[in-house]
Amino acid sequence: MKAQVFRGVNQLSYEDVPIPPVESDEVLVQVKVVGLCQSDIKKILYPLYEPPRIFGHETAGVVAAVGNAVKGWTVGQRAIVLHHIPCMHCDYCLNENFSMCEVYKNITTTAGFTPSGGGFAEYVKVPGHIVRNGGLMGIPDDITFEQASFVEPTNCCMKAVKKAQIQPGQTVLVTGAGPIGLMFMMLVNYLGARAIATDLLPSRIEKALQVGAMAAFDARDPDLAQKVQELTNGMGVDVSLLAVPSDKAFFQALDCTRKGGKILFFAEFPDEVEIPINPNVIYRREIDLLGSYSSSYRLQRLSADIVFNKRIDVDALVSDRYPLSELSNAVAQAVKPGPDTYKILIYP
Ligand SMILES: [Zn+2]
Ligand SMILES: [Zn+2]
Repeated sequence: MKAQVFRGVNQLSYEDVPIPPVESDEVLVQVKVVGLCQSDIKKILYPLYEPPRIFGHETAGVVAAVGNAVKGWTVGQRAIVLHHIPCMHCDYCLNENFSMCEVYKNITTTAGFTPSGGGFAEYVKVPGHIVRNGGLMGIPDDITFEQASFVEPTNCCMKAVKKAQIQPGQTVLVTGAGPIGLMFMMLVNYLGARAIATDLLPSRIEKALQVGAMAAFDARDPDLAQKVQELTNGMGVDVSLLAVPSDKAFFQALDCTRKGGKILFFAEFPDEVEIPINPNVIYRREIDLLGSYSSSYRLQRLSADIVFNKRIDVDALVSDRYPLSELSNAVAQAVKPGPDTYKILIYP
């Protein structure tokens, strides 16, 4: 089969690799669509992982082979693949910090080499513990593979939105109107709250309004905090969600968030970035600083419900489609997005 093998920093190689053999408790999935995630791009462009590997984790496809001990799955069924499942009994799991669980962090879905997701290949193998614990989910007939591939990013965004305890009637600043920022705006609306967006690109500011933001501003607008105050009865927003790794965006969020409000870091910053902050700003204004990484096992059903019942319009997020052979071009476009670049999907 064909796969895009990570052979070193920014070295993707389109190669023939063996289809992974399936053990008795495993399932093989033929990948139909896989989303290109910001985390994939980081793994490809930074020296974070030892090559060779096959990344890709927002996978939707068709069951192609089933181990003889697997119950409930047959060849031909359409399915999404979760690339990691927590153990559910370590101290992290018992505290619902599933994404800190060692079992969760140890990715086991694979298309060959050190298991790393495996979605950037024609076939991906799903190990037994993922098959048995809800990591393979059927796709309803009226949902496309493209739509289904959004369950994983929806889960990641939903986890952040839940962690920030966004309530109906609240106002939420979303910094960055790329595919993740736009999805945040959709989820904020879905929860009965209102979103205010910022971005640098005029096209993205326009797009934010199209997907339901109540207002959207240029992130360089010197009157941004003033305008946000005017939209929130002089209070500021209840929650700020940082969907871009920018210290400027953080300080803007600090200016725009009400006393007692919350600021959540979602986008991963480059490691060398440090943010100097006077702790009294946090103390006197009682601002909660939060971080949210990856998805939550608990929210998988809800995330599937949101996508499968079209409670948000994921189609509006898709801007580009590439064959697997052109993954490098897709990565280049994601790194230097054009005015109309949003979610990029890959077709093995
Ligand atoms: Zn992802
Ligand atoms: Zn655990």
